[in-house]
Amino acid sequence: MTERTFSIIKPDATRRNLTGAVNAVIEAAGLRIVAQRRVKLTEAQAKKFYEVHAERPFYGELVAQMTAEPVVVQVLQGDNAVAKYREVMGATNPANADEGTIRKQFALSIGENSVHGSDSLENAGIEIAQFFTEEEIVG
Ligand code: GDP
Repeated sequence: MTERTFSIIKPDATRRNLTGAVNAVIEAAGLRIVAQRRVKLTEAQAKKFYEVHAERPFYGELVAQMTAEPVVVQVLQGDNAVAKYREVMGATNPANADEGTIRKQFALSIGENSVHGSDSLENAGIEIAQFFTEEEIVG
C-alpha cells in the first residue's frame, strides 16, 4: 500500500552537510521525497513534537539538540513507506544499526542519530500535519 511518512534530517547531519547524502539513501531505497523544507525548530515546536518523551531523562538534551541548528523536514512516499523508512534509518542507537542504514553510515550517537522517522501510520499523519499543508505535498 502506498503510504506517506514524516522524516527529519537532524542538526547533526545538516551541520555536516549530509542532507544530500541522506536523501541519496532515501531515494535509492525507492522512497520519493514529496515535500521538503529546511527550518530551525522553535523550542515550542520541538517540545510538542517529542512530547511523548517528556518524562525521559534525555528530553531536555533532545529538545536542545533539535533546536540548536536547522533541520530538514520531509514527507516521504512509497510502498509501505512507514516501515520501509524505519528499516532504511536503522536502529535508534547507531551501534546497533545494520550496515547500509542511514544511522550506521552517519549517526554520531544515540542522541545525535541523524534522522527521525514516524513509528506508525497514525503518527505519520499527525507529524506531517504539524509541518505541511496538503498543498505543499506533491506526490
Ligand atoms: P527513534 O524512533 O528511533 O528516533 O527513537 P525513540 O522514539 O526511542 O527516541 C526519539 C529520539 O530521542 C531518538 O532518535 C534520539 O535522538 C533520542 N534518544 C532516544 N534515546 C536516547 C538516549 O538514551 N539518550 C539520548 N541522549 N537521546 C536519546
